[in-house]
Amino acid sequence: VVGTISAADIPKVARQSFPLCMMNMYQALHESHHLKHDGRMQFGLFLKGIGLPLEEAIRFWRTEMAPVAPGEKFDKQYLYNVRHNYGKEGNRKDYTPYTCMKVISSTPGVGQVHGCPYKTFSQESLRSALSRLQVAPAKIDEACSKAAAGHYQLACAAAWEGKHGCACETGINHPNQYYEESRKALG
Ligand code: SF4
Repeated sequence: VVGTISAADIPKVARQSFPLCMMNMYQALHESHHLKHDGRMQFGLFLKGIGLPLEEAIRFWRTEMAPVAPGEKFDKQYLYNVRHNYGKEGNRKDYTPYTCMKVISSTPGVGQVHGCPYKTFSQESLRSALSRLQVAPAKIDEACSKAAAGHYQLACAAAWEGKHGCACETGINHPNQYYEESRKALG
């Protein structure tokens, strides 16, 4: 079901279909024009998994980072990294997007925004992030209580349901699967 998307499609598909972990990083990148290495990897591989080809990924990162890394600075500091995610540099490993387990088990340090927000956010921040994501209020309550009980993926599934207005029968085990189920539900 996942086709190819372009850099120009990202704002729209993000609003419609990104899970909270990826939305959080997208917003941080868009506001600060920077993400630390772990975040660029977690978010970059997710974008690759939703069908963003290498050339479009370069266009996307270049544009988002331009205010702090214009022109040659981007080419010198970040281009390698984007190409590396696509298996075009170094050991040419074709990296796969991270599963929820992998995202949940990472521990973001100061100034880092990767990881799973259902685990890393306070209840208050989680509540406002879910309302920005336009999750129905009853499902925000459900997601927050599941997160507080340490059931992060169940919390995420509740948010998916409150965003799409239908049952998430598969559960959530991968950020890319969250996205794919969303695209299916939106038809
Ligand atoms: Fe992302 Fe998975 Fe956490 Fe949902 S449960 S926010 S998809 S890591």
